[in-house]
Amino acid sequence: MNIHEYQTKELLRGYGVAVPEGRVAHNVDNAATIAEELGGERWVVKAQIHAGGRGKGGGVKVASSIDEVKQFTDEMIGSHLVTPQTGAEGRLVQRVLIEQACAINKEFYLGMVIDRATQRITVIASASGGMNIEEVAKTDPDRVIREAVDPAIGLAGFQCRKIAARMGFAGKQIGEAAKIMQALYRAFRDKDALLAEINPLADIDDGHLMALDAKMNFDGNALYRRKDITELRDFDEEDSKEVEASGHGLNYIALDGNVGCIVNGAGLAMATMDAISFHNGKPANFLDVGGGASPEKVGNAFRIVLQDPNVKTILVNIFAGINRCDWIAEGLVQAMRDQDIKVPIVVRLAGTNVEKGAPILEASGFPFIMADNLDDAATKVVAALEGAT
Ligand code: GDP
Ligand code: MN
Repeated sequence: MNIHEYQTKELLRGYGVAVPEGRVAHNVDNAATIAEELGGERWVVKAQIHAGGRGKGGGVKVASSIDEVKQFTDEMIGSHLVTPQTGAEGRLVQRVLIEQACAINKEFYLGMVIDRATQRITVIASASGGMNIEEVAKTDPDRVIREAVDPAIGLAGFQCRKIAARMGFAGKQIGEAAKIMQALYRAFRDKDALLAEINPLADIDDGHLMALDAKMNFDGNALYRRKDITELRDFDEEDSKEVEASGHGLNYIALDGNVGCIVNGAGLAMATMDAISFHNGKPANFLDVGGGASPEKVGNAFRIVLQDPNVKTILVNIFAGINRCDWIAEGLVQAMRDQDIKVPIVVRLAGTNVEKGAPILEASGFPFIMADNLDDAATKVVAALEGAT
């Protein structure tokens, strides 16, 4: 789960990371009031969306007057900000962060991720921070520092100082950078994060280090024990179909193809997507209806998959163990009765009660396209696609 920059900064401030003074505004008047209260002569207006690369898309602007603060806020709020990370349709901006601007000497990168290969939180740092860090990582990987943290010891002081020195800090700034690393690590560990990033970590004109941008991503499976983080969730930033699906206990992830998938089991769902791709189709989603898929669950699965206007055919692939094919078949027939489903539906049933399931579908009179196995199902759904488009 992602949170906004202003929320991440608030969180990190609590851990002792220096962040600029600022507050979030929902409209032009708010923004002007906040800028006046902050004081100073220059302010930064920053679009709050769950995507990076805002600087490149016009979502970060330095204002030199209250009028400019108003103007930039007006331009950003209500607009669809397109950045290298949003896709062409962009993201609707509903709030901006107004901060006191500072003069930057140099921008650094400091991040932490869980490295699945070593199973350790790993610090990633670079002296080449700022808006082109992705470019640096690609073209000049030697400029990216990596340091794994031993979970039994935690992030050790000597590691922080070593990283800080390699980032090019000297004197008092080594200690300051080390303190920020420790704080970021504690926040990461305490809150079950998957990623924490400060970019830029800026060396500013008063000689101190400050986190000018911050981003954190949290493990959805740990949210049950992180109430404070769960409260920061912004449903507007998430795919509405995914939000609805999670409410129904369905595991749904939207993709950009046109073959809808309704499958039981995450592994089978992955295999189904692979089979569709193998036959030159493109899955529109990942959807795992889970073990005990009731007719209601099947109905909800159809409703959610069909909310995606790109879906031209649907492949239902059930390998029933705990599930029972006859119940699934009843759910399918019910969904056809309740919903106005116009796209071709290919069904592959296997496992428990399969001999009872198939006759239910045949007797229903609905034009289900039956498949014998996964490969047959993928072939048929892609063929149906050609007929449908
Ligand atoms: P991102 O593009 O979404 O990562 O947004 P950032 O918050 O990182 O902002 C992009 C760039 O704007 C930074 O790399 C800085 O160069 C610049 N920037 C951000 N805050 C300030 C500030 O307070 N003062 C100045 N002068 N520039 C800033
Ligand atoms: Mn940034």
